[in-house]
Amino acid sequence: MSINRRQFLETVAAAAAAARVAGQTPESSLWNGSVLDAHLHLRRDLDANIAHMDGCGVSHAVILARDNSGEAMHAAQAKFPGRLAWAASTDIAQPTAEARLTQAVKDGARGLGELKFHVDADGPELRRMYALAADLGVPILVHFQEVPHFEREGVFATGFKRFEAVLKAFPKTTFIGHADAFWANVDAAYANEAAYPTGPITRTGLTDRLLGDYPNLFGDMSANSGNNALSRDAAFTADFLRRHQDKLIFGSDCSCTDGKGAGVAQANNPAANRLAGKCVARETLTLLQKSVTPAIFRKLAWENGRKAYKVS
Ligand SMILES: [Zn+2]
Ligand SMILES: [Zn+2]
Repeated sequence: MSINRRQFLETVAAAAAAARVAGQTPESSLWNGSVLDAHLHLRRDLDANIAHMDGCGVSHAVILARDNSGEAMHAAQAKFPGRLAWAASTDIAQPTAEARLTQAVKDGARGLGELKFHVDADGPELRRMYALAADLGVPILVHFQEVPHFEREGVFATGFKRFEAVLKAFPKTTFIGHADAFWANVDAAYANEAAYPTGPITRTGLTDRLLGDYPNLFGDMSANSGNNALSRDAAFTADFLRRHQDKLIFGSDCSCTDGKGAGVAQANNPAANRLAGKCVARETLTLLQKSVTPAIFRKLAWENGRKAYKVS
């Protein structure tokens, strides 16, 4: 049996047109293909998450939710087929934390996170979670922050400068680093003096070295922290993204309402006002697109997150 080439091409074109009409990936043409936002917090109403995704051309997302969100996420996945995966967090100080997170993974969570707690990065609470993530075969997303953004905010997963020992101690754990201290430490001159340091970057910073040396460490580029670090020094950024093209994952952590910058993009964080009135997803995707080749952009915006969270 043979099909002539023109008929074949017409069939393909018709199928593509039908997919566009069905609107399966709204505005994804903005970024020339599918985009996974690997850091999108669950909103009061999941339709609000979808509104954000559609507004900034994000086709897929990993929704960061509480451990007991299985039912809600199943309903959301049925309503928006193929677009949503989720990761689970719980209060890691509670003795039930491991059981709750284990249940969340049984309920479909693809990762543990975001874990943002007032503990040491190498303390007993997080060590239990690192071991659990390896046992469950899911990645663990940690918020590292050494400098408070406002009075009484406190600090989170402190001691990133000592984190290499953790990477060594948990070789089977897939770590995804995120937030201020993870990103400030791309600069070798950083000494915990500011949440979001500015200016040219001194090469061979700790984060850069750990990403290169440890196959179990990945980087989540979300939030002002990721955007700020990648906006400081264009020559550094292009080189850093190219060298770690298989280790870096796009995420927004954006809280704007419409995917275009309405509302507050970095909720509750006066230190991040450089992104006021902007959508973090749009800003970071634009920055990535202008810094790397289309093939590397595809890895950063889609492939790497898809692999880490096993999104099909
Ligand atoms: Zn965070
Ligand atoms: Zn946004």
